Amino acid sequence: MPLSPGAKYESVSMSKPSPRELTLLRKQQVTPNMLRLTLGGEGMADFPEEQESAYVKLMFPNTDSVKPILRTYTVRAQRHDEIDIDFVIHEDGGPASTWATSAKAGDRITVGGPGPKKLVDDSADWFLIVGDMTALPAISVNLELLPKHARGYVIIEVINESDIQPLKTPDNIEIHWLINPRPGTRDTFLLDKVRQLDWLKGRPSIWCACELTSMRKLRAHFRALPNFDKKDLYISSYWKLGVSEEEHKVLKRAELN
Ligand SMILES: Cc1cc2nc3c(=O)[nH]c(=O)nc-3n(C[C@H](O)[C@H](O)[C@H](O)COP(=O)(O)OP(=O)(O)OC[C@H]3O[C@@H](n4cnc5c(N)ncnc54)[C@H](O)[C@@H]3O)c2cc1C
Repeated sequence: MPLSPGAKYESVSMSKPSPRELTLLRKQQVTPNMLRLTLGGEGMADFPEEQESAYVKLMFPNTDSVKPILRTYTVRAQRHDEIDIDFVIHEDGGPASTWATSAKAGDRITVGGPGPKKLVDDSADWFLIVGDMTALPAISVNLELLPKHARGYVIIEVINESDIQPLKTPDNIEIHWLINPRPGTRDTFLLDKVRQLDWLKGRPSIWCACELTSMRKLRAHFRALPNFDKKDLYISSYWKLGVSEEEHKVLKRAELN
């Protein structure tokens, strides 16, 4: 997808659409710790096109409030009348992971969004894409959209070797899979790999998303690089070990102040 001249990251904003009810059409075990749920049905009628890598808010009933519990997920793929969402199935449960595991075809879920996509800047000289399994859906889309001549690196942390997925990447993108059976417990795991790579010539487009403590380490590293231009970096935390998405959001907001 082309970016406007000078744009660093595509961030497509649109007026906030009303949440829609989608139906679970089918489930597929992508890898042992990643479950794909395909959602569709009448609610897709007004779902905007080409939303791969955009985020949606899954809404779960809340016994303590009229406000639903919200959980953020990436549109991994979109076809005419359905979307795929890939869930990391994690040990601590949580409404989203638990729902994904137990939901059956025909179940309904309210889905807010989609929110803006965050894509690498395809006019950069080279690319560095880093993330854990929660970012794998967004990373996969980003890789599929890279120009054929793209060069650089992708570093992805997965829970188990069997969670490695085939990725569609340009030939000159080097893929590094890291195995961490206990996600969120090794805050410099991704950074240590980044440090081992040869920094390439020219302007990079760096894209990172992972657990909060790992994200902090990566961000501090990039900010300290000589000639670092913050416009070349998109970095975000997608979750935090030991806290729910609500608490993670509070911590994330505090980082901005
Ligand atoms: C923009 C964006 C896009 C995202 N896209 C995806 C996606 O496509 N697929 C995806 O799987 N996740 C994605 N995430 C991360 C996801 O929103 C969080 O993992 C979320 O906390 C899961 O909700 P839950 O209800 O399962 O657990 P919560 O109720 O939020 O948390 C319950 C417990 O589980 C732990 N926990 C949460 N997530 C994980 C995890 N991945 N591994 C280990 N422990 C965990 C928490 O630390 C907490 O202790 C995305 C996040 C953002 C911000």
